[in-house]
Amino acid sequence: LRKTRFAPSPTGLIHIGNVRTALLSKLYGERFLLRIEDTDQERSREEFVEALMEDLRWLGLAWDEGPHSARAQPDYHQSQRGAIYDEFYLRLAEEGLAYPCFCSATELEVARKVQLAAGQPPRYSGKCGRLSKDEIAARREQGLEPTLRFRVAKDAIVEFDDLVRGPQHFASNDIGDFIIRRADGSAAFFFCNAIDDSLMGVTHVLRGDDHLSNTPRQIMILRALGLAVPHYGHTALILGDDGSPLSKRNGSRSIRELREEGYMPLAVSNMLARLGHHYDSEELLDIQALSSGFRVEHLGKSPARFDPVHLNHWQELAVRAADDEALWNWLLNDTRQRVPELRQSAFLDIVRSNCRFPLEAHQWATALFSDALERGAEVHDIATVAGEAFFQAAYDAAAAHPDNYEAFLEQLKQQSGAKGKGLFQPLRSALTGRLDGPELPKIYAIMEPHRLRMRLAEFAR
Ligand code: GLU
Repeated sequence: LRKTRFAPSPTGLIHIGNVRTALLSKLYGERFLLRIEDTDQERSREEFVEALMEDLRWLGLAWDEGPHSARAQPDYHQSQRGAIYDEFYLRLAEEGLAYPCFCSATELEVARKVQLAAGQPPRYSGKCGRLSKDEIAARREQGLEPTLRFRVAKDAIVEFDDLVRGPQHFASNDIGDFIIRRADGSAAFFFCNAIDDSLMGVTHVLRGDDHLSNTPRQIMILRALGLAVPHYGHTALILGDDGSPLSKRNGSRSIRELREEGYMPLAVSNMLARLGHHYDSEELLDIQALSSGFRVEHLGKSPARFDPVHLNHWQELAVRAADDEALWNWLLNDTRQRVPELRQSAFLDIVRSNCRFPLEAHQWATALFSDALERGAEVHDIATVAGEAFFQAAYDAAAAHPDNYEAFLEQLKQQSGAKGKGLFQPLRSALTGRLDGPELPKIYAIMEPHRLRMRLAEFAR
């Protein structure tokens, strides 16, 4: 069984960039796990845990394993798993695979500068790895708090087959002994991350390629502990459509913001699933269908660009595909009240084919079903130019055929001699105050006859 996971750090709201990893993992996994990486006490907040769970649920990315509220099930919160990590630290230390390091920050910084100046990649010299038991005890007695370093094997090659990028090789000599526990006792991110993936039975890790250089370290740690090593896949970054990293400026937003703007979950997931991944179908797919069409080998190796136009395209399809209940929930609270009971289903039909956002639907509900109507000067002029005789004829035709648009139109054409634009534009202007929008037959059918006549009569006098 392929088990994947999303392992966010709850230090902010999830946004287009990091939720993509969650989506891809959900689509790829047969079982999907959520783990909260909240070891950074300063920056982690419970409200962000709550928010990210809500956002994932909204997007349809339900997890099979993981916490169900910010506090419950400590197993899935790293902040509650300290004792587990301590056990593994101890084991590594006992086997001589990790050692305390007393080097000060200044010392390390100086060594780093010397190496850089000599054109060498900066890496730890291994100095404290050569301390005797007595030397270690003496330093501890001075009250020095050591970090814990992992002892990297010499002259080894760490290899793995990246699910996205193919075979990878790292020479252990380039890595240098690295810190797995800080002096204050807190764990290095990649340590708990690796341990937990293994203990939680995660088989396939998909994450951003900013984590690629952590992977050889994580593999070394797991192997040293005799723990199962998951398959890793590193996905390319998403860029803005201007080619620079995603940011507010080029349209990146939190999932929260997208939702508040009225985007539908399927619009977001269909857009994201197709960023750097090709699907044969160009239709809107639900999570299940996105999942069955997902091929990890179809993930692009180069950065994909987020284009807000694509998001809006999927939004259009998502609105069109939404069922009645979903649409009513999505619309603004008082939109429904404006629409007479008998006309509600016709209204949803208009929403599906004409609106991308709740506010637009609200504006149509107001234009079609309330007495007051604002018309811009240009629109008003178009109706005025058509003339009183035209609107008198329109009024008469509407009175004669309140339920039959074809007959109404035929009579109006006959009497007024108007056709084409000269016929439709003044009608739209008078009836809706706009020149765009639903097809005229739909407008004619959905408006209440008395209001429709009233709007025509405004220009007949
Ligand atoms: N907590 C890490 C992050 O949010 C997880 C990285 C990973 O997916 O392994 O970046």
